[in-house]
Amino acid sequence: MRLCSRPYGGRGWVGQNAPMNLPTQLTAVPGTDDLFLWAPEGTGLWGYANCLWVISGSEAAVIDTPYDGPMTEAMIAAARPRLGDRTVGTVVNTHANGDHTFGNYLFPGAEIIATRAADEHLDDEPTPQEMHALVRQSSADAPLGRYLREHFGVFDFASAQLTAPTLTFSEQHTFAVGDTEVELHEVGPAHHVGDLVVRIGDVVCTGDVFFHGDHPPHWAGPLQNVIDACELVLGFDPRVVIPGHGRPTDRAGLEEHLLYLRTVQREIRLRFEAGLSAEKAMDDLFREEFYPHLGRPERLMIVIAVEYSHLGGRVSTPTVLELAGQAAAWSYR
Ligand SMILES: [Zn+2]
Repeated sequence: MRLCSRPYGGRGWVGQNAPMNLPTQLTAVPGTDDLFLWAPEGTGLWGYANCLWVISGSEAAVIDTPYDGPMTEAMIAAARPRLGDRTVGTVVNTHANGDHTFGNYLFPGAEIIATRAADEHLDDEPTPQEMHALVRQSSADAPLGRYLREHFGVFDFASAQLTAPTLTFSEQHTFAVGDTEVELHEVGPAHHVGDLVVRIGDVVCTGDVFFHGDHPPHWAGPLQNVIDACELVLGFDPRVVIPGHGRPTDRAGLEEHLLYLRTVQREIRLRFEAGLSAEKAMDDLFREEFYPHLGRPERLMIVIAVEYSHLGGRVSTPTVLELAGQAAAWSYR
């Protein structure tokens, strides 16, 4: 299933991480009259997340906000014809990563909902200003600096303002947008410490427990929690599954991804038990082709390092920057 309409107008992006196109209009989710998707196209990219709009009666909500101000403004402009004179009363953040939250500041007055865990770990996330400094000030000769420039240099972090949740919950929370009921289910720690998935009838937004078309970077883990989150979504018997990144799909698309996750989990455990270091496990995994149709293989370095820390019984997982540094180093070897 393809929910994105073509062609989208671009906005003069430069750099390796430039998307194919950005949506200039929202696309109705098939079979619904209140759900609309803003889904940047392209795989192998960092930072271009899917955002779902709920527009019902006189109210509107948006699930996740883009990575920087210009992209968020482009999304709001794309939504304007559907939005009419409504204002967005609720923003949901599926987790605290900036590519799902940095655009919050362009929804003044909105209730911003996230899990309590996501809110409590907000300090572990780089702020927009820290990302701006990291991308521009870290050494271009070091793998992490080079990687950040190549993959994150396209974003305008300087303009964004960190805007924290105004309402947090644990386990479950339900709210209404006009006549539409929106269920939030906490599933973290999985991709991130504070993940949630969103269920609206038979449509589910998974956040980043599901990347469609790329290898995922899972920062919190263990992988079993990511698998459990995907199982929970399948238990909802969804008709439409909207991943955090990549093309919307259906139940079968998520089932296929679950098989991949179980394979990754098994292959990591085998190498851990054989005494390989995380770096050696990564090299060994990619000695032969490993899901070559999926983009950004270096992200599995992050998944392996996090899984190794759980398998080794460590109390805390490596930091985001440590993990990103390992992935960058592997990608240039
Ligand atoms: Zn994301």
